[in-house]
Amino acid sequence: MTCNRRGYLDNFPRVNLGIWPTPLQRMGRIGQQLNHHNLFIKRDDLTGLGQGGNKTRSLEFLLGDARKRGADVILTAGGLQSNLCSLTAAACCKLGIECLLVHNDDKPDNPEGNMILNRILGAKSVFVGKVDEQQRTCEMEKIARELQAGGRKPYIIYNGASTPMGALGYVSAAFELFNQIQSQELDIRHVAIVGAMGGTASGLVLGTALLGHPYHVHVISVEYPKPVLHRLMDQLIEGASRIIQEVEGLEPITSPEDVMTIYDDYLGEGYAIPTQLSRRTLYEFARTEGILLEHVYTSKCVGGFLDLIQKGIIPPDEGACYIHTGGLASIFTSTIDTLLSWC
Ligand SMILES: *Cc1c(COP(=O)(O)O)cnc(C)c1O
Repeated sequence: MTCNRRGYLDNFPRVNLGIWPTPLQRMGRIGQQLNHHNLFIKRDDLTGLGQGGNKTRSLEFLLGDARKRGADVILTAGGLQSNLCSLTAAACCKLGIECLLVHNDDKPDNPEGNMILNRILGAKSVFVGKVDEQQRTCEMEKIARELQAGGRKPYIIYNGASTPMGALGYVSAAFELFNQIQSQELDIRHVAIVGAMGGTASGLVLGTALLGHPYHVHVISVEYPKPVLHRLMDQLIEGASRIIQEVEGLEPITSPEDVMTIYDDYLGEGYAIPTQLSRRTLYEFARTEGILLEHVYTSKCVGGFLDLIQKGIIPPDEGACYIHTGGLASIFTSTIDTLLSWC
């Protein structure tokens, strides 16, 4: 099969924010340990904007849309350690657009992790107190209306970029990965990716279904139980699929449902709460491959990925790839004592 799904969604408005393709590296030492000699990592932590990470891909489409609509200020929302917030701040710098971040928390006395990056990048932060995500969205919309009344053109990035438009980033990542697999003649039949709100995994699954079923996608949930993530992903896949059909005239070759398996076995007690496995993985992965993970997303996903290999669910004779989604900055909110207690 050749991948020529027309230049990776060229008909969508898009801005160039990253360095593509991201590296696809072999993981030799982990492979040796697990007796699996075809293990790879796709380095979406090295996307070349700000601190790097998966949201760079979503932002290329979302900010492409914003620019087409003539936006002069971008609003998005998240917790203090939102990777989307920092990457949006960085992207806005690159594009010369103002960035306004709405945090559902109190203003911290001592900014740490991503909050430091947001300050360096010059984003404006508004703190609306410890409210839920719905309330946070209302506050953001209120600010947007005020800006609009003052003659500005605000553009809102909703839902942590887990929207159909945001999911396009990982549709194009699926095409990119498949081109790398083909041009390097690699035997990769399994791909693991993290699922929180599901935008990233939905894009990858839809992209894979648009290609047929060249590899299977293993989605490791780090926020919601499987049925909830499944429902979120179904909606996102349907929405993204519709706009791709409209704009590019492409349709999935295989049902997206068939190319994925979702696991909630590695979620533990919930979002951002480390598990025994994720803590151990953070250390072992760093000390085996020299690649850094954090405790919210990536150490849980890698822990799950390696466990699937150990259990033979990903068999030793079928190549496999983990997609590193970045997010390292949040690690710098932990004290050394906390971190070492995980070791
Ligand atoms: C946002 C994020 C994810 C998850 O993305 P969803 O699209 O919400 O599932 C994964 N890893 C990192 C580092 C992130 O910042």
